[in-house]
Amino acid sequence: MSTIRFSALNELNNRPVPSFNFPFEKISDYFGSEVFDLRKMQKYLSKDAYKNVKESIETGAKINRKTADQIASGMKEWAMSKGATHYTHWFHPLTGNTAEKHDSFINIDQEGNSFETFDGELLVQQEPDASSFPHGGLRNTFEARGYTAWDPASPAFIIDQTLCIPTIFVSYTGEALDYKTPLLKSLNVLDKTATAVCKYFDKSVNKVIATLGWEQEYFLVDEALFNARPDLMLTGRTLMGHASAKDQQLSDHYFSSIPERVLAYMKEFEYEAHKLGIPVKTRHNEVAPNQFECAPIFEEANLANDHNQLLMKVMRKTAKKHRFKVLFHEKPFAGINGSGKHNNWSLATDTGINLLKPGNTPKSNLLFLTFLVNIITAVKKHSDLLRAAIMSAGNQHRLGANEAPPAIISVFLGKEIDEMLNKIEQKVPDKKISHEISQKLKLDISKIPEILPDNTDRNRTSPFAFTGNRFEFRAVGSNENNAGPLIALNTALSDQLRKFKTEVDILISENIKKDDAVLRILRKYIKESKSVRFEGNGYSEDWIKEAEKRGLTNIKEASEAFKAYIHKDTINLFERNHILTGKELHSRYEIRICEYVQKIQIEARILGDLAVNHIIPTAIKYQNTLITSVKELKEIIEDEKDLEALVSRRIGTIKKISHHTTQISILTQEMIEERKKTNVKESCTERIEDYEFKVKPYFDKIRYHIDKLELIVDDEIWPLPKYRELLFNR
Ligand code: ADP
Ligand code: MG
Repeated sequence: MSTIRFSALNELNNRPVPSFNFPFEKISDYFGSEVFDLRKMQKYLSKDAYKNVKESIETGAKINRKTADQIASGMKEWAMSKGATHYTHWFHPLTGNTAEKHDSFINIDQEGNSFETFDGELLVQQEPDASSFPHGGLRNTFEARGYTAWDPASPAFIIDQTLCIPTIFVSYTGEALDYKTPLLKSLNVLDKTATAVCKYFDKSVNKVIATLGWEQEYFLVDEALFNARPDLMLTGRTLMGHASAKDQQLSDHYFSSIPERVLAYMKEFEYEAHKLGIPVKTRHNEVAPNQFECAPIFEEANLANDHNQLLMKVMRKTAKKHRFKVLFHEKPFAGINGSGKHNNWSLATDTGINLLKPGNTPKSNLLFLTFLVNIITAVKKHSDLLRAAIMSAGNQHRLGANEAPPAIISVFLGKEIDEMLNKIEQKVPDKKISHEISQKLKLDISKIPEILPDNTDRNRTSPFAFTGNRFEFRAVGSNENNAGPLIALNTALSDQLRKFKTEVDILISENIKKDDAVLRILRKYIKESKSVRFEGNGYSEDWIKEAEKRGLTNIKEASEAFKAYIHKDTINLFERNHILTGKELHSRYEIRICEYVQKIQIEARILGDLAVNHIIPTAIKYQNTLITSVKELKEIIEDEKDLEALVSRRIGTIKKISHHTTQISILTQEMIEERKKTNVKESCTERIEDYEFKVKPYFDKIRYHIDKLELIVDDEIWPLPKYRELLFNR
């Protein structure tokens, strides 16, 4: 007899280990070879067209139709020289994946001759049918048209002989249906507000960009084993499985040498990524078995996010060649670490200054302080929004689950900076700042060492940690589109910076010296935002109590967390900054909720299926074997004592199996009833609480009994690959 589990294990053991041969001498020989970057534009475009594109990338200037035609023609020529036959607009709908619809370059003239075309109109704008993308009630089907429009700031690239053009995606009526539109708007507003503030200190600053360096965590599972786990296939996570005797308790995976087969996979996806201009730099083993991480060199945030989405696609595709499945789910396995996507985020000026890097002059330090304190204040004010932006059915397993950063949003600064803020808070008097004090303060500020001891000062338990020259938003889920949290951060900070500037300007107009005015307002903010700062262990029970005392919210419930999207403060914030309208926020709220409901619904269905059609029959089969053997034993064993001991043990096992199978059956039935009850309700917003509080709690209860059975039933007939097999085959 062979279960799907054993055929999978057999397949895995009999298959050659895929390898990868690096076809070049060095990475710089082919880095960006599949990207229509400035260097290639220079070659394929006229001088004027090149100038226009460059300007558009740098300042957001419009590209006129004639130039667009020229660019399209140059792009086509380049793409065809690389063997491309098709083109597509590539965008980030709110499904969480990227979307594309390929068209070939081919055209036919009146005489029936075929030739290749691609013009400015096709480059700049297209009209895909938007009705099957999530819109959260924004569109009626009769106006289902959507528009994609070219984003020149993110260069076109070729993948699978297809020229991909990064675009935004909006509805017929102009509402954003994607992540990129509000991301670009938020980056634009942040540029304006941050530049205005920079000018207090340095008139030569004309542009501020947000930078993003993401760290992507993921699991690898052998493809054959993956295919033998319907729960992994349909939900991205295991809904059952007893813990492996060994998993991460010896801490022997983190940073240890990368398994050979995994390394071959990493080399190949990095090779593909480098061709696409994605600057992947770091790779290592993560904490859990079969868990890994990769990180690039940071880039401008919009480009960095496109690169992250593209890399996830490349990783999925390359995994196939290596007979792996890559899991981006935040919690594929119970009992061991889940996966995050740390967003390292900072701001840089066009004069080459990282605004979150402490300087070594009083002036540069005041600039640093200004941004630092405004960020802390923005996070404090909009912590509920930040949480909503990272909440999902997957990431909920991490948030507040005593492993990843907690559901309480707090800011970690490190001892030195924390103390410095405390000093400033104490030292600057409320009304007039004496010359002496402000001088002294400047001295204090100037003492911030240029390089902070960030490595010793790391706090892995903080959701939002300062790491020496950037903030690291660590609570983002591994499967998330970074744009969600970035839009929230950029918008909150822009709003805060504008307020800051208004307040400082009022003081300046009252003849208070600029530096003094800045310090006085900063001091006020330091006080106002103090409760969000926390240096201790974010996983501890004490912190939960302390945070409550401080009035910080600790929302683990998805249904509650999502409400921040449509809170009046959020709507005002986004409308004031022209990033999203109340209508668009409501649509996003609905989309997040529906996604949550649907994911829990799918999990419930597959759990029910596995429990009833796979696990219970297997357990009964084994139970029947035991029952037969009890009967037969009586004929064979003569020693009465032996017989009694044996029989009573077997009967004990038979009873245990009965108990667990009965419980599974009852609980599954109850879960199905709950689903039926809630599915009568019309909308996701009405269903979410039922799914979260009535359906989902059955998952662990049912799983408990299944995992117990896994320990009892004969290994030979257990149908699903076990944790030890999923986690250690590589
Ligand atoms: P760790 O795991 O110790 O946090 P990694 O080296 O894995 O560090 O990742 C650090 C990430 O931070 C990298 O992606 C890096 O490019 C990024 N980073 C460094 N400086 C900045 C910056 N100024 N802005 C944004 N990201 C940055
Ligand atoms: Mg990090």
